[in-house]
Amino acid sequence: MAQEATTNLISEDFDAGPSSYDEIIPGLFLGNLTAATDVEWLKETKINYILTVDSCPLPRKIQELLPNLTIKYIQITDMPREDLLTHFEDSYEFIDHSLQQNDKILVHCYFGISRSATIVIAYLMKKYKKSFCDTFETVKEKRRFVGPNAGFLAQLKLYEEMGFGINNTNVQFKMYKLQIAADKVRKAKILPQNCADLIKPDPALATVHPEPTVYRCKKCRRIIASASNILPHMPKEKQIWRHISQKKSSKQSKTSHELLEPLQKEVQQPAEFCTKILFVEPLAWMPDITHTVEGKLNCPKCNTKLGSFSWIAGSQCPCGSKIAPAFYLVPSKVDWSNAVQNVQEAALRKKEEKKSQGEKQQQQQQQHRRGYS
Ligand SMILES: [Zn+2]
Ligand SMILES: [Zn+2]
Repeated sequence: MAQEATTNLISEDFDAGPSSYDEIIPGLFLGNLTAATDVEWLKETKINYILTVDSCPLPRKIQELLPNLTIKYIQITDMPREDLLTHFEDSYEFIDHSLQQNDKILVHCYFGISRSATIVIAYLMKKYKKSFCDTFETVKEKRRFVGPNAGFLAQLKLYEEMGFGINNTNVQFKMYKLQIAADKVRKAKILPQNCADLIKPDPALATVHPEPTVYRCKKCRRIIASASNILPHMPKEKQIWRHISQKKSSKQSKTSHELLEPLQKEVQQPAEFCTKILFVEPLAWMPDITHTVEGKLNCPKCNTKLGSFSWIAGSQCPCGSKIAPAFYLVPSKVDWSNAVQNVQEAALRKKEEKKSQGEKQQQQQQQHRRGYS
């Protein structure tokens, strides 16, 4: 009985099937929960590291039985909208560290099919700078039934697009993060604190390296958004990030600034991107967006309605694209202005200030004179 308890801890509590594992590259094993709790096998194989990618951590007893074991735990369910992508980097470090030590590591989830396979594929992609497709095939040769769910597949492709790292300026990644945040808003009805970095600084207050191209409120000229805040979309395209096809994705890996160029040349040539509605990132001047699921976006200076936002329902552009979550400006309410126009704008403002100062001075002088007379 005692023997059984040490060799197979999970028999009564779980049913992940018989122990199943494969060595994908020397020292890197991919397997199921039963393998991860098979203390005898872990001992025999000299596994010193375990990366658990599951909804429950491993039983504590394993670490008591194997004191040399180092465990990393990522709590995640096998759902397409779960965010595994933002764990790729620290998983890479953990796996790479163990292999550098010439140690053996087991990456596992419940069945060793989707979550753990995704982590192993991401590791190998980055390690060998290989495409998702090639890496997936390599892993399948060792473990034929691996199959990341649709959401994880898309995350792996996005990881490849970003050059095997996280690129915060990638438009697809921005959309991805927004969608994850929207799922949280749907549940909690407020934006959780750990998503607060999604809300970008107010571009009107940017004093260090202000961007050369901005959108201004047509009525009062206040800066509303910078070029990099725009989330461009193609006409009639569903802009849920994971539906982007491979062909288009090369464009999508550009920064939003680069993406915006065709939009700016719109006058000379037909625009590639839809300009009927300007979708933007959530910005610090937008009121109520952290604790309301939808509402109006009014100019913070003159209070003119410039657009709307909706975390859950999103918004349908007249071109047919549906974007969710959506933070958008109506183009007729804003003006695009480039560096030259911004300088002119600043000069104009200075002139106006001078004029009003001059008028004030004149008034003061007049009052002064009147006082003498
Ligand atoms: Zn305004
Ligand atoms: Zn559109």
